[in-house]
Amino acid sequence: MPTYPLLSIAQIVPVTEAEGPGRRFALWFQGCPLRCLGCCNPEMLPFAGETPMTFAAVAELLRAAHAEHQLEGVTLLGGEPFAHAEAAVGLVDEAHRLNLSVMVFSGYTLENLRADPGAHPLLERIDILVDGPYLRHQPEKRRRWIGSANQRVHFLSDRCAADDPRWLLPNTVEIRLRDGVVTVNGFPVSGIGLGLRTQ
Ligand code: SF4
Repeated sequence: MPTYPLLSIAQIVPVTEAEGPGRRFALWFQGCPLRCLGCCNPEMLPFAGETPMTFAAVAELLRAAHAEHQLEGVTLLGGEPFAHAEAAVGLVDEAHRLNLSVMVFSGYTLENLRADPGAHPLLERIDILVDGPYLRHQPEKRRRWIGSANQRVHFLSDRCAADDPRWLLPNTVEIRLRDGVVTVNGFPVSGIGLGLRTQ
């Protein structure tokens, strides 16, 4: 079994339908080197304040969530997943062992990532990549799960269908209350962030 760096976690939602097709395990990394105009998760920009978790601990959470909820996939967000690529690879491999699809939201474009050899191990493992910076003044109006109109969806494997009609259903936001703390995830909502952790 290879060893992986600790994962710098901002938030984990064990099951959500607001971050890609079907029921998904969603993990937000803490730390992003980009500065998108109107970043929807500004509390996840610093490479500090994370909850460090081992690969084994996160993989156990994933397996438990899959056993309970029959997941369709895993979604990685941030923060910037490619700033945590080495740690993310192990989780992606675990997802594929469980026959789950992997969707990643990145502020980098596919061309940026293909030009960076350090990004290739993660990039080569992704089934769906949503690329490009989030631009608040270009809100996406048609494609579900996508924040801004400039962002592209790349189906990088045949595990997920590009013509899946779920991509054109109305967007959703999920609001949770746990231990007195509210969290929101899904389509970016002005004035409501993801920084309040429940996990
Ligand atoms: S990539 Fe995501 S976290 Fe980073 S600046 Fe852009 S919107 Fe914010």
